[in-house]
Amino acid sequence: MADWLQTVIEPLTDAQIREMLETEHGGIMEVVADVYAITGDAKYLALAKRLNHQSLFEPLVRGEDCLTGLHANAQIPKVISMERVYQLTGEPAYGKAARFFWDNVVNTRTFVIGGHGANEFFFAPDAFATLGVISKTGPETCNTYNLLKLSRQLWLVAPSVAIADFIERALYNHILSSQEPDRGGFVYFTSMRPGHYRTYSSDTEDFWCCTDTGMESHVKYGRFIYAHSDDHLWVDLLIPSQLHWTDQGVTVRLDTRFPEDGKATLTVSAKQPRRLTIAVRCPGWLKPGAMKLTVNGTPEPVEARPGSYAAVERTWRTGDRLEIDWPLTLRTEMLPRSNEWVAVLWGPIVLAGELGTAGLEDLDFRNTHNYVATQELPLDQVPVFIGNADDVVAKIKPVDGRPLAFRTAGLAQPTDVSLSPFYRVHRQRYAVYWRLMDRAAYDVRRHGDAREADGK
Ligand SMILES: [Zn+2]
Repeated sequence: MADWLQTVIEPLTDAQIREMLETEHGGIMEVVADVYAITGDAKYLALAKRLNHQSLFEPLVRGEDCLTGLHANAQIPKVISMERVYQLTGEPAYGKAARFFWDNVVNTRTFVIGGHGANEFFFAPDAFATLGVISKTGPETCNTYNLLKLSRQLWLVAPSVAIADFIERALYNHILSSQEPDRGGFVYFTSMRPGHYRTYSSDTEDFWCCTDTGMESHVKYGRFIYAHSDDHLWVDLLIPSQLHWTDQGVTVRLDTRFPEDGKATLTVSAKQPRRLTIAVRCPGWLKPGAMKLTVNGTPEPVEARPGSYAAVERTWRTGDRLEIDWPLTLRTEMLPRSNEWVAVLWGPIVLAGELGTAGLEDLDFRNTHNYVATQELPLDQVPVFIGNADDVVAKIKPVDGRPLAFRTAGLAQPTDVSLSPFYRVHRQRYAVYWRLMDRAAYDVRRHGDAREADGK
């Protein structure tokens, strides 16, 4: 197939190839680069490079933000391909383009759940408040699937807590939330609009891109927990698991109830005592010094700087236990470039308001054959938080006997609201972002509403 493709591409001019690649075409360059990796035949590397979309590549290499207005998921596979060529050749321009793209999307275009874009497109970062947070569409699941793939590639080239932080954010808050509990349908758009809801693919009538990547996503959680070199084992996520590191004769079991709490125990089995560095991620969302590590009950004097790895180097023997403690707390993050919209998190887990099914009583949430949820609630009918962002955390209390369930206390108007992990809130309206209002502004809005109701 690659040889056939070469016969098609060879007679084309660079301008014709550039024009052809304007259309969403997936990861054809990556596939050809993989054929080069498998065969070692340089003609496939040359073909992969000819399929590099210069209209995107050139500005990325120059560090120019060229993404606003582009179809988002048409771009990510191109960038995955650039990073793949960088892995295979070490040519700096390809790596630079991929890293600049990742930094730009993750740091300037991403919602708190790890997704980006609206209606499939990158919008201007200044438009988060005027478009992003009120769109009925919002982030597409495929985009986050692909950005996770790019994140993994970049991490393998240069291990980084910033990348692992993004992976955790996107996995728990977008990917995990994108499959319908019990019925298994997949979500296309996850709207960030307060008071909106998701619709899901049906069993036999819908087969979207996000159904396909959706099927893959939910068998990939294990891929992001561990990584290794010859003498290093990195632990990035607290997911219950067992690692069989066969060629080193080492097995590691990770036991945890995360995210109910942030504690985990790594138990080592080694055929022979094994000198090894275990590097545990100290997430960027922790407070400095908050992470604790103990080995067989003795505290390890590691520097636990958020955003870095805390490394324990020792000779590990069967039965050795490394205990990890990430103290989880409530915290907030603002909508990018906004001081008006706030999201609430428990550690890295985004909490969403459970807002019920007003106006959706007859909907089975998958009956439209359409991936856009259309029945929006007017924003002035969605509860708001009274006060400023610093007041929020103190006015949210855990619900006794219900792990990860919270309720606001004197914070939301017109009534307090219940909060749960976003991945648990399905088949109802939700709020991930809350409008912050001071009491006076809220009273004006309410009285304005009352005057309207009175016909004045
Ligand atoms: Zn999709």
